[in-house]
Amino acid sequence: MKITSINPYTEEIIEEFELLTENQLHVEIKKSREAFLKWRNVEITEKTKLVQNLAMELRKEQRRYAATITREMGKSITESTAEVEKCAKLCEYYAENAAEFLKTEYIQTGEKQCYVNFEPLGIVLAIMPWNFPFWQVFRCAVPAIVSGNSCVLKHASNVPRSALEIESIFTNAGFPLNVFKTVLIDAGSAIKLIDGDKVDAVSLTGSNKAGEQIGAIAGKRIKPIVLELGGSDPFIVLKDADIERAAETAARARMLNVGQSCIAAKRFIVIEAVAGQFISRFTEHFRSLKMGDPMDENTTVCPLARRDFVEELEGLLNDARLKGGKIVFPDEPRPPKGFFFTPCIVTNATREMRIAREEVFGPIAPVLIVANEEEAVLVANDTEYGLGACIWSRDVDKAQRLATLIQSGIVAINDMVKSDPRMPFGGIKKSGIGRELSHYGIKAFVNIKTVVVK
Ligand code: NDP
Repeated sequence: MKITSINPYTEEIIEEFELLTENQLHVEIKKSREAFLKWRNVEITEKTKLVQNLAMELRKEQRRYAATITREMGKSITESTAEVEKCAKLCEYYAENAAEFLKTEYIQTGEKQCYVNFEPLGIVLAIMPWNFPFWQVFRCAVPAIVSGNSCVLKHASNVPRSALEIESIFTNAGFPLNVFKTVLIDAGSAIKLIDGDKVDAVSLTGSNKAGEQIGAIAGKRIKPIVLELGGSDPFIVLKDADIERAAETAARARMLNVGQSCIAAKRFIVIEAVAGQFISRFTEHFRSLKMGDPMDENTTVCPLARRDFVEELEGLLNDARLKGGKIVFPDEPRPPKGFFFTPCIVTNATREMRIAREEVFGPIAPVLIVANEEEAVLVANDTEYGLGACIWSRDVDKAQRLATLIQSGIVAINDMVKSDPRMPFGGIKKSGIGRELSHYGIKAFVNIKTVVVK
């Protein structure tokens, strides 16, 4: 069986890749197991040195890696370059802090000695999406590996070249072979790996459907799992907000990666008194967007990653139209080729529309008007997701009080939601289980071992 890498801008096939057969996969997993057994004993100072090398490797050929990302999934070259840099920063963060995060904790209990060690689990299977094809992988793999695990990557089937380049970055940084490994396999083969004794833990970033299926199998096999799933993040604009800044940030927060981000702002919940002003400024920002070639640094609207996503968004927009939504500018001409979807704002949006109920993985921005703060919180929480949220108000104390009422893993006040290696990242409700990044992330795949000496 083959998978294909397609350029979403030119619609051309870039490369085709053979998937591993079951036997080939088992050979690769065996190598990962052997690599783990040696790697777990390597001194932490050596491990962190190699993680530091990863940062250098990423920066050495930053432009080339960025071009691979852009060619395979269509994001702008500017965003791809920033993504590679962000991976380098993450590596530096764990290179500097991993030893401290993993050091033995001594606890006074009255016994002769009591302590807690953080030991690796074995092979972590990373099942990753295409939307940030480098960042999502590094975010999972670096803390897992520096804590002594080996990592096997099953990347999304539309970004195989990115997956192979990431493997070569680990090799070039000096990691022992097979500590990080890419396997080109389909979803079914990944499930078989989990449903057996081949891997010891699973990390998935992806859709809720995948989360349910993978979570069920990992649950059956009692394997540790981190699920980083979808979101429908509310962006709340209160009466006393700086509307100009809020509208400008709202447009950026919706348009990052052409809306294909789990933490993109997806529902704009605005107090009635300032709704007109907000919509007018928000619309202006959308009007200045420019569709075009992702390799051109002036392009602000790139194609979506796959053709079927365009059809999916058209279905969502039609539903909104049928239910009374006013589409602010749906008639922009699209470039003749490429998987483009014209960004639009939907006013008169209601909670019954699919765009307010489902995760919209693209540039549609519904504005939901509410009477007051109480209703804003109610609407914000009226979703099965709970990843991020934004609150805009000049009264920061009030915004912080409201933040405690929002059901999400992350709240940004007067800013957009962003990930930062120093801060834990993850969601509640159907947005997932567990946390990545910071000292919390590095503990996701360790055996927290209690030792008591009598
Ligand atoms: P998927 O969840 O389908 O893909 C993510 C990863 O999971 C891929 O590697 C995929 O492999 C794999 N996968 C999917 N289903 C299974 C399964 N049953 N068992 C094992 N592995 C599986 O997301 P898509 O890329 O198809 O995007 C669809 C939707 O997912 C988006 O519209 C969006 O809602 C959400 N999404 C959320 C992301 C986030 O960061 N929270 C990121 C990406 C998508 P393969 O590619 O081979 O199917």
